[in-house]
Amino acid sequence: MVFPDLQLTRRGERERSMAVLRRSRNVLLRWNKHVSLEYVSTRPMASKTPVGFIGLGNMGSPMAKNLLKNGYPVIATDVFPESCKELQDLGAQVVDTPAEVAEKADRIITMLPSSPNVIDVYIGPNGILKKVKKGTLLIDSSTIDPEVSKEIAAVAEKMGAVFMDAPVSGGVGAASMAKLTFMVGGVEEEYKAAQELLTCMGVNAVYCGQVGTGQAAKICNNMLLAIGMIGTAETMNLGIRLGLDPKLLAKILNMSSGRCWSSDTYNPVPGVMEGVPSTNNYQGGFGTTLMAKDLGLAQNTATNTKTPIPLGSLAHQIYRAMCSRGYANKDFSSIFQFLREEEGQ
Ligand code: NAD
Repeated sequence: MVFPDLQLTRRGERERSMAVLRRSRNVLLRWNKHVSLEYVSTRPMASKTPVGFIGLGNMGSPMAKNLLKNGYPVIATDVFPESCKELQDLGAQVVDTPAEVAEKADRIITMLPSSPNVIDVYIGPNGILKKVKKGTLLIDSSTIDPEVSKEIAAVAEKMGAVFMDAPVSGGVGAASMAKLTFMVGGVEEEYKAAQELLTCMGVNAVYCGQVGTGQAAKICNNMLLAIGMIGTAETMNLGIRLGLDPKLLAKILNMSSGRCWSSDTYNPVPGVMEGVPSTNNYQGGFGTTLMAKDLGLAQNTATNTKTPIPLGSLAHQIYRAMCSRGYANKDFSSIFQFLREEEGQ
């Protein structure tokens, strides 16, 4: 096994990130105590009123563009103002902080990297909940810890706003073509209002249940995706070493029982498919860091629910090892390249 002591060597790092999350959670709990329970007003279904969008990265930027294309005025912000430039040129109003977005919009979508960023954007010093209006619909499409979604939803509810989690499946290409799938958790009565916006950015929106269940579905999907991608990369590598042409092997897998999304839609071997990150030096797509983060979420939830996930845990260790060996910013299908480099050692 290539990573026998990774768990030990990474323990300090894990403890540091858990401490950040714990501190953020304590802020949430303190905040929760200081706000009184208020009535959640019913928002009028005014269709083309401004929509706030926070987090204009690989996914957020094309998602916000699709809202503009559908005629919604967009009020946007990102911690890096240069991320907003393109959207501003297309007509979006750019403001400095999430609180300012909340002053101007009663529907807000957030698309941020991870739990600490989401906590900061909602309850930080310039966060949405500093200025949120009663009845505001808050949709978080980031992939984060379901417990964080539940805690933010509780605070938002006390302030008269509604928070829903709506993480997405589909990469940057799907975001650009408005072909995302949204997994939605939250108050069922508000689902229709959320759907109105989500269908501008995706083809499927699935209501999963109470707040946090969208994240649960997303975490399960990504754990399977990670395991499938590693399996596909291992298989392709073995086949190539056995003298098979990679395109031929992919064709056989894709007409056989080994077929999966990683083999037929997102093959990790350069040159097997067009238009995928493996054929573009693993640029763009879904970063290895983000996959490692999602597997960390799967690991936490599995530990909390005493659920055995031996392959999910191993996938987590493998993606963390990749991050520390220069693959952090490459697409997660670079596991193939990682294995090729490993075998030489
Ligand atoms: P990204 O890092 O490209 O974009 C995140 C954006 O959030 C950045 O522009 C960053 O500057 C901004 N940001 C961070 N903290 C902020 C703050 N405090 N205030 C304002 N802006 C802030 O990430 P991404 O690839 O767009 O992914 C976003 C989320 O979507 C992640 O949770 C990821 O797991 C999930 N996701 C990504 C993909 C994909 O293919 N990239 C697919 C499905 C789901």
